[in-house]
Amino acid sequence: DPNELKKIVSHAKEYGYVFPSSEIYDGLSATYDYGQYGAELKQNIRQYWWKAMVQMNENIVGIDASIFMHPTTWKASGHVDAFNDPMIDNKDSKKRYRADVLIEEHVAKIDAKINKEIEKAAGKFGDSFDEAQFRATNPRVLQNQEKIDAINARFKEDIEKENFEDLKLLIEELEISDPVSGSKNWTEVRQFNLMFSTELGSLADGASKIYLRPETAQGIFVNYLNVQKTGRMKLPFGIAQTGKAFRNEIIARQFIFRMREFEQMEMQFFIKPGTELEWYEIWKNKRMNWHKSLGLGEENYRFHDHLNLAHYANAACDIEFNFPMGFKELEGIHSRTDFDLKAHEEYSGKKLQYFDNEMEQSYVPYVVETSVGLDRLFLAILATAYTEETLEDGSERTVLKLPVQLAPVKAAVLPLINKDGLPEKAREIMDDLKFSVNVQYDGKDAIGRRYRRQDAIGTPFCITVDHQTLEDGTVTIRERDSMEQRRVAASEVSSIIEKAVDL
Ligand code: ATP
Repeated sequence: DPNELKKIVSHAKEYGYVFPSSEIYDGLSATYDYGQYGAELKQNIRQYWWKAMVQMNENIVGIDASIFMHPTTWKASGHVDAFNDPMIDNKDSKKRYRADVLIEEHVAKIDAKINKEIEKAAGKFGDSFDEAQFRATNPRVLQNQEKIDAINARFKEDIEKENFEDLKLLIEELEISDPVSGSKNWTEVRQFNLMFSTELGSLADGASKIYLRPETAQGIFVNYLNVQKTGRMKLPFGIAQTGKAFRNEIIARQFIFRMREFEQMEMQFFIKPGTELEWYEIWKNKRMNWHKSLGLGEENYRFHDHLNLAHYANAACDIEFNFPMGFKELEGIHSRTDFDLKAHEEYSGKKLQYFDNEMEQSYVPYVVETSVGLDRLFLAILATAYTEETLEDGSERTVLKLPVQLAPVKAAVLPLINKDGLPEKAREIMDDLKFSVNVQYDGKDAIGRRYRRQDAIGTPFCITVDHQTLEDGTVTIRERDSMEQRRVAASEVSSIIEKAVDL
């Protein structure tokens, strides 16, 4: 359901999860900022992954390599060539790229028009303005949206059929001019590199061109011997890392699913040559089970085995997730052979061999990689959690049914009213809880509204302090998903929450 994603995007913005980046300057395309709850959720996901990979596996350790690497790294890895060539050598790719760019620009123009209409209306109606309602009913917005949908539909069909002739006509029909030369000439195509580059050092000193890493993996490969030696690691062992990666994606869309700056959580598992397919199967299954343990629904996952393998792999698959846009890649698992380490040996002139005590022989290990996008996982979790419910009394609520371990705020402490010593008591409970979990104090508005607000944020527990609390030391604890409330001793609250959170 395409509307599903729109709802999630606007909920994420309204409740401090994800904001368009540089919004006061009308945003920067396909870049997003994580807000106060988004940053917490992201952190919790990262920690959950780190715990499963590093803490729970004796033979896996974590590192944090830098984003900038020696430029030769990207020659060795094949990125400098592989990311360049298709654009230069293949005529159809050139056309496809050109079509992608032109269409994206055109859609962005229509998008901007829609946003202007919305801004104007919001100015007019002020607080009572409901963007969703406006989108759904305003003829000008609808007309523009229809145009975008039509472009997207035709664009998708044409790309799938590789029908570039048709695309050309479409572009002409839309009267979009060439963004580079201003003409409608298709023959000369700008060279395009998916890696972002910048200069190291000042220009006067003869600056050298360096790249922002397009994957975190290479930081692990170049450090593998450092870690192996200093950690006295024996094969098989793994090195894990989370961090930012940058790709100048031709089409970056669908919210945080495909961005130009994103975060990866990768693990490279170093093994004896010849055992790679065995380990590939093991990691395939481990990773799938890990995803399923999040409780987003087993039916929402599937494997997609790659038949066309990348230059570095001898087996590869994706774990796909059922996003609001359909099944799409969430994680990649690759048997990368000794491609990367061998290439780094060749380009650096340094030996990257491991001495196997049992075999009494040195060799370059093989590698199985698991690589998941943190932002994509965030989207999978947020989209699955987002629920609109009609309650028994006919009222409606929007609730984020986030896995309890991952929820940004674990509990909210609410004084029923703001007098009679209830706020003080509530603060006392909060001060007690904040050492172990992230808690929030909320004393504004009627209690029902406060519950709704916490539902929208995804807070699993609300602790309400009322007059009875002062008499017998009990509070009510309200559970987010069932909305059930029960009275418990205030002193029990922390252990109830910690148990649910799995601490
Ligand atoms: P895709 O086919 O979707 O472009 P990929 O196969 O290029 O992805 P990998 O190079 O295998 O991706 O990277 C591993 C993971 O990093 C992906 O499974 C995905 O979750 C994440 N990822 C890759 N590119 C992006 C991006 N532009 N924005 C957000 N996450 C990304």
